[in-house]
Formats: sequence, structure tokens, C-alpha cells
Amino acid sequence: MQSEQPIMQLQAVKKSFGNRTIALRGVNLSVVKGRVHGLLGANGAGKSTLIKILSGAYRATEGSVVWRGQTVNWDSPKAAKAMGVATVHQHIPLVPTLTILENVFLDDGGWWRRSSGLRARYQDLCQRMGYWLDPDRSVSELSIGQRQMAAIFQALSTGADLIVLDEPTASLAMDERELVYAAVKRLSRVEGKAVLFVSHFLDEVMALTDQVTVLRDGLVVMTAE
Ligand code: ADP
Ligand code: MG
Repeated sequence: MQSEQPIMQLQAVKKSFGNRTIALRGVNLSVVKGRVHGLLGANGAGKSTLIKILSGAYRATEGSVVWRGQTVNWDSPKAAKAMGVATVHQHIPLVPTLTILENVFLDDGGWWRRSSGLRARYQDLCQRMGYWLDPDRSVSELSIGQRQMAAIFQALSTGADLIVLDEPTASLAMDERELVYAAVKRLSRVEGKAVLFVSHFLDEVMALTDQVTVLRDGLVVMTAE
């Protein structure tokens, strides 16, 4: 079935840092549109390194990144984003002194203040995610969960087909985790996005994801539906 074709694949990906730390030792991963793929592993397993490779922040030492069936050699996060990969990194890259609206459309340039078009686009994002945040609030006033939602709006605003969330729930209380789960379900089920959801919580991965890859010490030790 064509819909089962992976949108993103890593093939035998290795990554070493300065020849001393080997973070990934030959990892295969396939992510499919309309599905949530869980990437599970303990601290230090290599999850964030893998995310940085498929989002263009790092280059693999060996192996291939295959996007829509083509091997790619992205040299920056910008290159990956332009091709449709949006990543919310573990340490959320929002600018605390700017408003939510300014953060969500940060990459669109400095003209947001005058644009009513962006407000309409922002409302559309809120509606699609079923969650409302006042666009004029400063990010510094938000809870961690609200920041995570703003970062998801930012990822969605790029029109990406693959949305990568690196441990989005790691420092959230249970009620705020539920917000993120609902957003992830909408991204995959309603928007048809491929979602790569990184976590070290087994329970949420079992509840939320359609497929799972488990990493340990830079190796895949399990893949399952
Ligand atoms: P996880 O996200 O699963 O906790 P990471 O990918 O952050 O794991 O780290 C995997 C391993 O690679 C760890 O041993 C970590 O110390 C190491 N590592 C990660 N980034 C770097 C880096 N930039 N330079 C050197 N070592 C790194
Ligand atoms: Mg990590």
C-alpha cells in the first residue's frame, strides 16, 4: 500500500563524536505518514543525537537519511525544514521575551507586527490543535506545557509533513501531558502528519504510539507495532 511507504528512513546510521563517544552504532528507523512512531530509550541511549541527524543539525558519520525515497544530505536544520521536517528539540527553542505570535512565526521575518494575515493563520493553528493560547502573551509568562504547545504550533505553521518531538512531556505534570497527547493525536489522525515522539516513559509510548523503536547504547534493541 502506498500510504505505508515510509516518509523518513534512517539506514545503518552511525554517529561518533570526536572518535571517542559513539552515540549511534548502526540504527535503522522508518516513520510513516498518519502514524505516531515512538522512540524510547534511557538517558544517553542516543535519542537526541538521532533526532539531530534527521533534522539536519548533525550529519551522520556513516549511513543514510532517506526522505520521501531519496537519500538526502542536509547540512542545516533550515535545509531539513525547507523539505518538510519540523523539530521541537528537547530544550524548547522559544524566545522568552517575545510573544507567542512572534515566536510561532519567527522564521517568517520581522514583519509580523503589521500583519493581520498572521493572526488569522494563528487562529487556524489553534483551531486545528483544539487549544487556545492568547497570541499576545509573552512566552516568559507561560507554563512549560503551554510553551510546549506554542512550540507545536510553530512546527505545524511550517507546513511540515514530519513533526519530531524530543521528550515533549519530560518535565510536564500529568494534566499538561494530556494536552500534548491530544495535540499529537490530532497531528497524526486529523492532519495526517508523521510524528516521531521521543520519550523515556514506557506507559505513554504504549498508549500514544502506533509503532515503537527502542534504543539502548546507540543500538536498536526492539521495533514493534
Ligand atoms: P538521549 O537523548 O537518548 O539521552 P543523547 O543522544 O543526548 O542521548 O546522547 C547519546 C550519547 O552521546 C551520550 O553518551 C552523550 O553523552 C553523547 N553525546 C551527545 N551529544 C554529544 C556531543 N555533542 N558531543 C559529545 N558527545 C555527545
Ligand atoms: Mg535526549
